[in-house]
Amino acid sequence: MLVHICCSVDSHFFLEKLQADFPEEKLTGFFYDPNIHPYSEYRLRYLDVQRSCKKLGIDLLEGEYDFETWMTLVRGLENEPEKGARCEVCFDRRFDVSAKKALELGEKKITTTLLVSPLKSQEQLKRVGDMFYEKNGVEFIAVDYRSGGGSQDQSRVTKEEQLYRQDYCGCIYGLTMQRDQQGKLMDEMFSPLGKQILPASIEDRLELYQRRMDYEDEGQEYQLVREKFLNYRQYNLKISISKKRVDAHALIYSTLPRKKANGRIEHSLNDINFMNREEAKFISLETFNKLSNSSFKTVKEMIFNPLSVERESEVRQKLCYSPYDLSPIFVLNEIIEGKIDIYLDAKTYEDNREYLFVK
Ligand code: SF4
Repeated sequence: MLVHICCSVDSHFFLEKLQADFPEEKLTGFFYDPNIHPYSEYRLRYLDVQRSCKKLGIDLLEGEYDFETWMTLVRGLENEPEKGARCEVCFDRRFDVSAKKALELGEKKITTTLLVSPLKSQEQLKRVGDMFYEKNGVEFIAVDYRSGGGSQDQSRVTKEEQLYRQDYCGCIYGLTMQRDQQGKLMDEMFSPLGKQILPASIEDRLELYQRRMDYEDEGQEYQLVREKFLNYRQYNLKISISKKRVDAHALIYSTLPRKKANGRIEHSLNDINFMNREEAKFISLETFNKLSNSSFKTVKEMIFNPLSVERESEVRQKLCYSPYDLSPIFVLNEIIEGKIDIYLDAKTYEDNREYLFVK
């Protein structure tokens, strides 16, 4: 039986149940989900499915990430709510490609882990599956592992196996609507110019989950721990001095309450230059290099080859008089006299993060 897989949270429990209910059947997983956006999130979900299938001894195949075809298919349905017309097209596509894969592999049965997701309509899935059976002769196995306490069992398995729990269905449209309703920042869509790995970003999790898989392969015991913390994202920074744009970098946790500020350097102390407004501090690249033990030739070079967030935070700490200091700190190629205009669009916000500890 070919099992279309959408994510590990749905698939681990579902595959365990299938193994128990169809002991004679050789199960093959098929991860085909070009709806998942961004691509790093797709990789993260696939990685956790790989781990889950490995644990269960199930072969796994990866489908094509034909994202552009998927986008073309759902064109005009961008504003549909979840379980609406866009989701129907999304299921149809994933099911259609999976069923064709089953035909190609000579499989006679197919099912999908979407059947256990509370966000999906089982009726919708059954209808698509039955249509495909009529057309191609591949039987759709419409198991119901959701009712009769199935959802609670699924939550238990998710916790026990420490699976990756994504908090959105997958596509950019569902994500946008969800974050709008939650009034939350869509930080999944940030991609820094210099590919710096931001705290609690998808790339951060990808690294962590890859490390976890390595530990498991080596037989190393570990513990995943979650914590709340103050996160930060920066959208845009522009600085002009005497109306002339200069290259600049704002250190992590730099914010301005109204995004804009202007002023002049009022005084300097220990190579830190203090502006007369918003408690803004300026340092030269030379000072930054000294504090971070690096050798950037220009601010631009630093932006495209950034230090890790941890090393940048260390520099920030060296420039602050208390660990709670939230002053905006800017790095310039050199400190120039004149009227400074700053536009900084950046946010700090409460967030969750996972850590991996070796036991
Ligand atoms: S919300 Fe989920 S099911 Fe619906 S279109 Fe987006 S990814 Fe597909």
